[in-house]
This record gives sequence, structure tokens and C-alpha cells, in this order.
Amino acid sequence: MIVDSTSYGGDDTETVKKFLSPVLKIIPACHKCRACVHACREYAIVFGLSDLEVDRKKCATRYFKNGECIDCAAACHLGAIALEWFEFKNGKIIPCD
Ligand code: SF4
Ligand code: SF4
Repeated sequence: MIVDSTSYGGDDTETVKKFLSPVLKIIPACHKCRACVHACREYAIVFGLSDLEVDRKKCATRYFKNGECIDCAAACHLGAIALEWFEFKNGKIIPCD
């Protein structure tokens, strides 16, 4: 099965798609200003009860359509966000090793 921007299921035996997506790396630095939330044109970031949550499928869709996106990380003036590699594996999105 070929995994592309519109199909996220299947296994990873034929095609593995990797993409960059944000991770809140410096949690104490985040003061919940939500600049990253507003910077994302895919509406992929929300704040849960206490932490930043990323819809990786939405983020991946943008990556596959438009290439690398750094909007959320660039919006964080505290440098609390890092972009890291994720991949589709066994129908799930997981961080790359
Ligand atoms: S990398 Fe781009 S698409 Fe992904 S969450 Fe950040 S701003 Fe949104
Ligand atoms: S822009 Fe940075 S400081 Fe503001 S909510 Fe996002 S991660 Fe936190």
C-alpha cells in the first residue's frame, strides 16, 4: 500500500513517509501564549488541559502538500518548540527512532 497525504493506513512494508512536526521541548519555558496555535494554518495545534497537543495527520498533510513548515516553531519567541521527525508505521504515527 502506498501511503500518501490522503491515505494514512496500512503497514510500512512498502512506503514509509516521514515528516517534521512540532514537539514542546522546553515545557517550563511555555507560558501558553498560544502564538503557535494561531500560527498554524492547518489548525493542527490546540492546548489540552495543560499541554500542547498536535494533530499529526493535519501537520503531515501540510508537509506532504507544501514541504517543510516551521510556522509554529518560528512563532514561539521562547524557542520552546522543536521540529522532529515522525513517520507512519503500522497505521499509526510515531516519532522516528
Ligand atoms: S509544522 Fe506547520 S502544519 Fe505542523 S503544526 Fe506546525 S505550523 Fe502546523
Ligand atoms: S508559542 Fe511557545 S510559549 Fe507560546 S504557547 Fe506555543 S510553545 Fe508555548
